[in-house]
Amino acid sequence: MPGATAQTLRPFLWRARRMFPDREVVSRTHEGIHRYTYAEYADRVGQLANALDGAGVERGDRVGTFCWNHHRHYETYFAAPSMGGQLHTINPLLPDHHVQYIVENAADRIILVDPSLVEKLAGAYDEEAFASVEQFVVMGSEVPDTSLENVVDYESFIGDEDATYDWPDLPGDQPAGMCYTSGTTGKPKGVEYTQEMLWSHTMATLPEAGLDLRSSDVVMPVVPMFHVNAWGMPFSTTAAGAKHVYPGPSPSPADLASLIEEEGVTLTAGVPTVWLGLLEYLEENDADLSSLETIVIGGSAAPKSVIRRFDEEYDVDVLHAWGMTEMSPIGTVARLKPGMESLPAEERYDKQAKQGLLIPGLEMRVVGDGGEELPWDGEAFGELHVRGPWVTTEYFERPEATEEDFEDGWLKTGDVVTVDEEGYVKIVDRAKDVIKSGGEWISSVELENALMAHDGVAEATVVGVPHQRWQERPVAFVVPAASADEESLKTELVEMVKSEFPKWWAPDEVVFIEEVPKTATGKFDKKVLRNQYDDESLVEGKAPEDAAPDAND
Ligand code: ADP
Repeated sequence: MPGATAQTLRPFLWRARRMFPDREVVSRTHEGIHRYTYAEYADRVGQLANALDGAGVERGDRVGTFCWNHHRHYETYFAAPSMGGQLHTINPLLPDHHVQYIVENAADRIILVDPSLVEKLAGAYDEEAFASVEQFVVMGSEVPDTSLENVVDYESFIGDEDATYDWPDLPGDQPAGMCYTSGTTGKPKGVEYTQEMLWSHTMATLPEAGLDLRSSDVVMPVVPMFHVNAWGMPFSTTAAGAKHVYPGPSPSPADLASLIEEEGVTLTAGVPTVWLGLLEYLEENDADLSSLETIVIGGSAAPKSVIRRFDEEYDVDVLHAWGMTEMSPIGTVARLKPGMESLPAEERYDKQAKQGLLIPGLEMRVVGDGGEELPWDGEAFGELHVRGPWVTTEYFERPEATEEDFEDGWLKTGDVVTVDEEGYVKIVDRAKDVIKSGGEWISSVELENALMAHDGVAEATVVGVPHQRWQERPVAFVVPAASADEESLKTELVEMVKSEFPKWWAPDEVVFIEEVPKTATGKFDKKVLRNQYDDESLVEGKAPEDAAPDAND
């Protein structure tokens, strides 16, 4: 017998309002620090739903957002889906032609936009691509000068509306959210999240096998709310009845440090570069991080050096997580199993630097080149396939891409992994980033982690550059730390790699750059470097005679 109601977001909001009415939602906005309670929050969610109703948003319509992390964006997270609409978060860091493609493909009816992003959106505006958009709502109490038409400010939009809303009974398969993968190659691909996908992702990430969220927690998602629902944290934090802290537009390390200190943040989350930035800031500045217990790091591999430093210097536990837009997004977390806490520190960090254990509710398999399933021995590597209630089985209106990336309900992740006997997944590389030298594979991720652990390195990425004899050879692109001596650093880095890895893994060249190019989701954008160095000039004549595996080691 099915339950009387489907798996939807509605009860999470209801519970927070009724059982934790006084817990706070704090956000850093362009107007300063804003704070209110779940009771006030829920009233405004009701007002927003009424306003969207008034604007003609109907069941199944998409409501776009073009915003950073703040309370108004959080209001859309419950209002749009719970009234039967679909919250479509648009990444404002995407190039204009991607924004146009996404808005046209999703056919958004309304777009809510941050004041600081109005100009960017107006720049991307194209009459044809934006034909479905009837209104723009600016997230504040005034409308800045803009070439956009039909613009209203958010406070006037919701101001006169009733705070109560008669939330409908929605089916579990009602589309509730949508996000596009950032499209490192080709056009972005749309992923729709149904009510039950968001519900099951929330329920799976709440307990200890997920993020372990409690009502006593103070949760600050630094991961943008425009990217895969900020890893679902606005939903899970609400379900837990915990306090929310939203860091607002482009938060600097200083902003993050002061929010942690002033609001007593216990758990925060974001991509590795954010935490590298915070560590660098903390070297020069004092901040009290004593409230902080956990940093969830995901999106790219968490360097072991970052895990170690947070543990040793700040007594903060890094919870390494892996996921994908297609997975709502969390798939694994690297939580230690009972008994592992007493391992020597380096062994613990090694485990934590893996992407971890699948969270309950999902299934996985590792598939070799020939389609065979590989053993969990920590050695054999192949492509990771996953399936489960919060993993999509298709891309929106993209049958060929769906055909390519899905197989009998399994998502083919494109991530090359090993799994050890204990079930810990380790991402060796993204299939397209693996460097193929002399018929063997070199993991760019492992090299990057090793390089970034060196004191003289602020950031580093490793790319395979074409090579006539060896097919590809690794080149390291390094942003030196301020204190580094570039001359000796090059040799030191190559020697270090040789001592830690097979010798033929050593980069043929180390190029110093000012900044590693980043994608719209803050990951290293190797495509830019690859395009820039797509000939052999960098590595010509440099590869060692034994740049193949069997010649040494
Ligand atoms: P996009 O790269 O399009 O922005 P996603 O955010 O969905 O899309 O990225 C998913 C990919 O990011 C994964 O397939 C994986 O390659 C990488 N990734 C995510 N988390 C981790 C992690 N903890 N370690 C290594 N890679 C990760």
